[in-house]
Amino acid sequence: MTPLFSFFFGLCVGSFLNVCLFRWNSGGNVVSPPSFCPQCKKSIKWFDNIPVLSFILLKGRCRYCDTSISWQYPLVELATGILFCVSAVLITGPLSFQLFSFVFVSFLIVLTIADLKWKLLPHPFTNLFALAGLIIQLYEKNMDLVHFYTLATGFVLIGALVLVLIQIFPEVLGGGDIKMVLALSIWLGVMKVIYVLILAFGSGAVVALGLLVAHKINRKSTMPFGPFLALASYGIWFFPELFEHIRMVL
Ligand SMILES: [Zn+2]
Repeated sequence: MTPLFSFFFGLCVGSFLNVCLFRWNSGGNVVSPPSFCPQCKKSIKWFDNIPVLSFILLKGRCRYCDTSISWQYPLVELATGILFCVSAVLITGPLSFQLFSFVFVSFLIVLTIADLKWKLLPHPFTNLFALAGLIIQLYEKNMDLVHFYTLATGFVLIGALVLVLIQIFPEVLGGGDIKMVLALSIWLGVMKVIYVLILAFGSGAVVALGLLVAHKINRKSTMPFGPFLALASYGIWFFPELFEHIRMVL
C-alpha cells in the first residue's frame, strides 16, 4: 500500500479505535448504536464524523450542544494515520506484512490510551492482541509444529520472567502488563521482548526521574507502564537493526 493511502486508511481505523475505547468504557458494543454525543446524546451525522477534519471544522465542539470534544479523538486518528504510513514505508515484503503491522500498531494504540486514561490494560484488548498475534504467527509459519513449540516455550519463559519482575517492581507492573508482555512475546519472539522490557524500563525510569525532578509526581505515585511497552515495541518493530545495536552494546 502506498504511504499516502495507508495514512488515510489509518485515520479511519483510528476513528474505529476511538469507538472501541469509548464503547468498552461505556459498556456498549462496537456496532450499535451509531456514534452519538456523550453529552446531548444526539447522533453524529457522517459529515461530522470525518477523522480529524470534522474536529477542526467544528473547532472541537459538538454541533448541537457546544460541549468540547476530547483531544483524544483527533490525536488517536492522527497517530494511527502516521503509524500506518510509517508501516507502509518501513515494512517491506508482501502486502500481508504491512497489514500485520497495521494490526500490531492499532492494538498498541488502544492499549496505550486505555492505560493513560484509566491506568489499566483491559482484558478484552490484551486477549485479542494475543489471539491476533497467534493467528498471524501460525499463518506466517504455515502452522509449523516446531515453530509452535518454540512459541509455547518462549511464552512460558516470558511469563516466568514477568512474574519475577512483578515481585521486584510491584508498583510498576500490574496484571494487565503481564498479559501485554505475553501478547508481545507472541508477536515479537522471546529475545526481542526482553529488549522491549529493557527499553521500556529504561525510558520509563528516565521519564519518572524527569517528572520527580519537576515535582509533577512524588515517590508514591504510580505511572502506567503500558505506553512505555508500546513505545519500545514500536522501536523494535520498525527498526529491527536497533535490536541488533542494543545486543552489541549489552
Ligand atoms: Zn452534544
